Amino acid sequence: MLAYDVIIIGGGPAGLTAAIYAARARLSTLVLEQAIVGGQIILTSEVENYPGFDEVIGGAELAMKMEKQARRLGVEIQQQIVSSIDLHAKTLSINDTVYSAKALVIATGTQPKKMGIPGEDTLVGRGVSYCAVCDGAFFKGKVVAVIGGGDAAVEESLYLSRLASKVFLIHRRDALRAEKIIQEKAFATSNIEILWSLRPVEIKGARIVEQVILENVKTGEKTELPVNAVFVYIGQQPNTDFLNGQLNLDATGFIVTNEKMETSIPGVYAIGDVRDTVLRQVITAAADGAVAASEIAKGV
Ligand code: NAP
Repeated sequence: MLAYDVIIIGGGPAGLTAAIYAARARLSTLVLEQAIVGGQIILTSEVENYPGFDEVIGGAELAMKMEKQARRLGVEIQQQIVSSIDLHAKTLSINDTVYSAKALVIATGTQPKKMGIPGEDTLVGRGVSYCAVCDGAFFKGKVVAVIGGGDAAVEESLYLSRLASKVFLIHRRDALRAEKIIQEKAFATSNIEILWSLRPVEIKGARIVEQVILENVKTGEKTELPVNAVFVYIGQQPNTDFLNGQLNLDATGFIVTNEKMETSIPGVYAIGDVRDTVLRQVITAAADGAVAASEIAKGV
């Protein structure tokens, strides 16, 4: 059995910040990340609201800086998928190796929600995408649709407007919920056209995306919009399946914590986007990580 003071599952801004604070408290700290360290921000073109950068910083660059800082402080980071976990025992398995910790921190974040409409699954990778930074370059000079009205949809529309010839931002209501500053930028961008009160009902294409079928939410009228790609940004769902119901979740599946980031099981903490919180930003994820690790340091 491999024993640590703290094991953090998830290597996004929340997990990395918890690791930085835990390492500075001289706790032996392991971060387990199933994919690439950095979490959702590596899929974010630009981060403009994280303080300390007078110029816009790319999400991947910010993530790399956090990872470097954690490693410099002695944090061990492994790319591993947790195969089973016992939160009461504070043990987890990776293949046949058992890891134990005095405190466990869940920082597994979220994943993009799907629309669940015909054509979405079959055309993934053929024009349907959940990541403009990853796939936007394939649509240089082409016409793309972005679905959603939140921060992610508007920010990624701005990013795509620098590659595509035209971006249709399609929103189901008549007002965006994104931050006002990025709304203003979108309104001022000549090749972004916002289509209001429409919801996609089908994506069509023989081999690649050719059209998105839109339904007017007020009249029910359907129209066909020819596009080369559909980027879906309709929100996020928490990555909690691997917990198999061991923690209290809210009605939408996010982990319930108190202000110390404690969950329903003593010694198990949840931080960042995966927890039930009022704001999901890099800075709030980082703050959660700092709070959890400081609490852990008091007791370990
Ligand atoms: P979000 O804020 O939940 O917005 C989702 C958008 O998709 C909403 O406009 C919603 O419409 C729309 N929508 C939901 N389900 C839909 C469906 N089935 N069909 C069509 N449209 C649908 O999600 P997000 O933009 O991914 O952001 C998630 C969190 O990350 C938020 O807390 C956000 O603030 C944060 N974030 C922050 C930044 C930043 O600070 N720069 C960047 C990215 C994300 P309604 O408006 O009608 O509900």
